[in-house]
Amino acid sequence: ALAHQGQVRNSGEAYITHPLAVAEILADQRMDGEALCAAILHDALEDTALPRSFIADTFGESVAEMVEGVTKLDKIQFNNRQEADAESFRKMMLAMSRDIRVILIKLADRSHNMRTLSDMPVEKWRRIASETLDIYVPIANRLGLNQTYRELQDLAFRYLRPWRYQVLEKAVMKARSRRRDLLQKLQRDVEGAFKNANLSIHIFGREKTLYSIYQKMGQKHLSFAQVTDIYGMRILVPNLIDCYTGLGILHQLYKPVPGKFKDHIAISKVNGYQSLHTTLVGPAGINVEFQLRTDAMHVVAESGVAAHWMYKTSDPVH
Ligand code: MN
Repeated sequence: ALAHQGQVRNSGEAYITHPLAVAEILADQRMDGEALCAAILHDALEDTALPRSFIADTFGESVAEMVEGVTKLDKIQFNNRQEADAESFRKMMLAMSRDIRVILIKLADRSHNMRTLSDMPVEKWRRIASETLDIYVPIANRLGLNQTYRELQDLAFRYLRPWRYQVLEKAVMKARSRRRDLLQKLQRDVEGAFKNANLSIHIFGREKTLYSIYQKMGQKHLSFAQVTDIYGMRILVPNLIDCYTGLGILHQLYKPVPGKFKDHIAISKVNGYQSLHTTLVGPAGINVEFQLRTDAMHVVAESGVAAHWMYKTSDPVH
């Protein structure tokens, strides 16, 4: 806070609110003390007079190294998109192989900058949003950071195509409220069927992101009314084998849509994601996509590599 004193964000707030917000995002991912420390200091080397030696002496060498790593990533400049794709990936991966926390700090930094993008001048929105889609979204995906991946995609979409985003947002809200009764009935039916089978589960309604709906419309040349899988539910079960039992229960309850079943448990995705996916034809013919997974699979599905820190409980803070 002392080093950033006098500096302000575009919103007019003190600059330190930004590094603190970045640290908060990482705290939610249960990152360790060193990473949180480096997050709070992440803009200090580049934007303030604070010397590296002060950071190393006060907070330790590995914190100083992380701050330096984030600063180096910030300095990469690209002339065009292809160069950006290849070059940034290479640099990111290099930095990552030394300390993956550098990438996680950089992604949290981008998340907060995207959340506050409306404070930036309008003429900068397009460049920053497409850079987010081209560079940061693929990295979040590669690392299995699904929450970050989805949030960055939706925020980038909002600023790249503001008008389409708004229209789609309204259409989805309307469709969901029109179907609310049916979805509640579906959820009660599913809960009842699992109860009869003596399987205790947690079931959640799941919102598909606007960006994924928008992408589907583009790829398959569909109008919004033709996109059938905007409703989703997620079921968490105690054990791996329960995923398959649960699949049987669902398929007995409602007809599955042919060709929609995917076993990402037996064959997990490259980023570690595991779940069973199936789409059912629910009441009144609405399609609902189900995901079945265990609690442990869920942590990995949402947080990818960051799941590693979620399971560590007593990290010493250096
Ligand atoms: Mn920053």
